Amino acid sequence: MTKFIFITGGVVSSLGKGLGSAALGALLQARGYSVRLCKMDPYLNVDPGTMSPYQHGEVYVTDDGAETDLDLGHYERFTGRPAVQMDNITTGRIYTNVLARERRGDYLGATIQVIPHITDEIKAFIKEKDGTADFVLVEIGGTVGDIESLPFLEAIRQFGNEIGRERALYLHVTLLPYIAAAGEIKTKPTQHSVKELMSVGIRPRILLCRSDMPISDDERDKIALFCNIDHDAVVPALNASSIYEVPLTYHNEGLDTQVIKHFGLEDKAPDLSVWEKIVQRVKEPEGTVKIAIVGKYTNLTDSYKSLNEALCHGGIANNVKVDIKFIEASVFEKEDPAAYLHDVDGILVPGGFGERGAEGKILAAKFARETKTPYFGICFGMQMAVIDAARHLAGIKDASSSEFGECDTAVVGLMTEWAKGDKKEKRGEDTDLGGTMRLGAYPAKLKSGTKIADIYGTADIHERHRHRYEVNTNYVESLEKEGLVFSGMSPDGLLPETVEYKDHPWFIGVQYHPELKSKPFDPHPLFVSFIKAAIEKSRLV
Ligand code: GLN
Repeated sequence: MTKFIFITGGVVSSLGKGLGSAALGALLQARGYSVRLCKMDPYLNVDPGTMSPYQHGEVYVTDDGAETDLDLGHYERFTGRPAVQMDNITTGRIYTNVLARERRGDYLGATIQVIPHITDEIKAFIKEKDGTADFVLVEIGGTVGDIESLPFLEAIRQFGNEIGRERALYLHVTLLPYIAAAGEIKTKPTQHSVKELMSVGIRPRILLCRSDMPISDDERDKIALFCNIDHDAVVPALNASSIYEVPLTYHNEGLDTQVIKHFGLEDKAPDLSVWEKIVQRVKEPEGTVKIAIVGKYTNLTDSYKSLNEALCHGGIANNVKVDIKFIEASVFEKEDPAAYLHDVDGILVPGGFGERGAEGKILAAKFARETKTPYFGICFGMQMAVIDAARHLAGIKDASSSEFGECDTAVVGLMTEWAKGDKKEKRGEDTDLGGTMRLGAYPAKLKSGTKIADIYGTADIHERHRHRYEVNTNYVESLEKEGLVFSGMSPDGLLPETVEYKDHPWFIGVQYHPELKSKPFDPHPLFVSFIKAAIEKSRLV
């Protein structure tokens, strides 16, 4: 029978609850159990798709086309289990569902209330996972004490009560701040946070205590005493030097053992060899390559979470450390790109939206093309590379994207129709913006003899998409004449999916997001190949 682990956070946000959940998932897997992880987000947006990455970090896209919280990326990278739409829910979606049902008349006669209608809807989301894995880990976004979290806490309290202690575990992630003046770790915020949880009827059985400093036995005792928890269930969670070390450090501190003990399961040693190997490679690289990410959300690296990780995976596969240099694209509008890019081994222009920074990205693609620096253009990064080719090779001086306003030479234009399986999706200028892009896994066909087909080792690929604009096929012929090969197309031949230059060591643009599928133990071939090309470039200098 499925066991449920509810993970809440206290004291402050950004404690790495998502990472902790993912690492626990990996540890349970290493003990031979199947796991499924999901996240409940208390904000009112129906999904994070319309939020700025500055607000909420990257939007993670699943195969089935959901725009979800970036923690689902951690879950997938740590467990290998592909995330699905039903692994993420928000208050906005819960209310949308309940209100749609109210309008349909499903609750005729009743007054719709937070309890029971909203809490029942949350419970239904959790219950849907029953039977799908040995362990279901449910992470509750936000911090205990937030007004928005209350219905979620009430729902998990009720759910735990219904299934019983043998099948439910509450794990609370807290912070033990170090006060330098006193030279001490402080336990009071944790005590308050546990009290707050207890006041809504939830008694955590395990505390995962984030701290910059080692936590002494006395301090563990104190927390155990005041929070009503076993000494061993107060698990120290110190900062790790790499996120892939987290499963190992948490295991050493006994996290998975405590979970197993709670459920009365046999405590056999997990097989952590995969993680040991990854960590060893991360810690002992044979060299370093420098990759520039020319983007727009460069001062919040969470905006490019999966990308940073995929680059790291490419490094792991090649035994090198990848140093990422974030460059705000708009600086190239005033300054010479060479001043920033002359010393990098590879240039990556990631996904993006809107006009700001676009000219800088076009210039980054131009620089990479002209100097034969490896270039990886992802989604927007491919579109900007195509605009560079149109403007500077094919002589279409005003080439642009209709994303930036009306234009007669929209080499990149709004996608109004595309095939999804055997159905047609249609969009217009006035379609809602939320959830209406070409989202999720779509197949593409790669042309044989191209570099990208060689890298994948197959002509048929499935990759995750998130875009509203596409390269206009009317320009394909004139661009191919200039050496830009359209190496991959949608199976119906209507949408360009990948481009590359023949006479360049490594210049590839893809309309999809390969970074979303890369894992430390299964790095994405494009990232492996890109980093390899960067290593070769670094040797030339
Ligand atoms: N803004 C572009 C589009 O909608 C690119 C999107 C992206 O990079 N994810 O097509």
